[in-house]
Amino acid sequence: MVMASEDEVSLLVIVVDVNPIWWGQQANREPQFTLSKCLDAVMVMGNSHLVMTRTNKLAIIASHCQESHFLYPCKLWKSGDGHGDENASTSGDGKYELLSVANDFIAEEIKNLMSRTEVKGNQTDTLLAGSLAKALCYIHRVAKELEAGQEMKSRILVVKAAEDCALQYMNFMNVIFAAQKQSILIDACVLDSDSGLLQQACDITGGLYLKIPQKIALAQYLLWVFLPDSDQRSQLVLPPPVHVDYRAACFCHRNLIEIGYVCSVCLSIFCNFSPICTTCETAFKIPLPQVVKSKKKKLKPST
Ligand SMILES: [Zn+2]
Ligand SMILES: [Zn+2]
Repeated sequence: MVMASEDEVSLLVIVVDVNPIWWGQQANREPQFTLSKCLDAVMVMGNSHLVMTRTNKLAIIASHCQESHFLYPCKLWKSGDGHGDENASTSGDGKYELLSVANDFIAEEIKNLMSRTEVKGNQTDTLLAGSLAKALCYIHRVAKELEAGQEMKSRILVVKAAEDCALQYMNFMNVIFAAQKQSILIDACVLDSDSGLLQQACDITGGLYLKIPQKIALAQYLLWVFLPDSDQRSQLVLPPPVHVDYRAACFCHRNLIEIGYVCSVCLSIFCNFSPICTTCETAFKIPLPQVVKSKKKKLKPST
């Protein structure tokens, strides 16, 4: 247990995008970098964080297209202390028991999660906004369980694979602003196409956004760039900040737009004017351009 004199807790929550469709395609594109390689890298990062200081805490959430699932700490971990010891004693390689047990549980959890996957129809987007919300809730819970006099710094690292889902735009923005209010940093390590949503998240919360040039080197980028916390980062020369795409997605077609119409009640954004907001159903009493009433008599074609 943590002693009362240890007064700073650093909680790292890693959200891993395990979208089965993206990883399925990835396995064809680049067979040397698979989901299990990615999770290995994440575990290396998690283990490193845990061993840096005794008061460091870790959580790992798998972001799937059907659910957000805690890989660590997990239910197996909490219920099976005896089971854990048994496992640890069998790994005779001198590895720190806590880590080898944690890694086994993470591997077990991801296996269970992927084996119960049944991709249905168009449910193909990663539920990233939901996973981030879960991360915020977890951080809040850990903060409440702190001992008197302890302080906590927390951050979230997103390992992003699949493309952004514009449908989640509003939920995502709400989560980001909630994180900003709680001074929780959001970092993003992007494996594939750039994510406008995460660029904004990192910019707003003071986190670091990096699209890594080589997926296969994920573990190195995680250790060099994302393992140091915000205090240590000021001492480092890190990749320069990216240009943030601040365009918002319209709620009607999910297109990114620069100029649009904003509902004055719910702040929904539309690319076309509509007299009724489709989000909050407010009817706007805007004087529409006068309809010309005095119809000019059209000359009917003589029959
Ligand atoms: Zn639109
Ligand atoms: Zn509205």
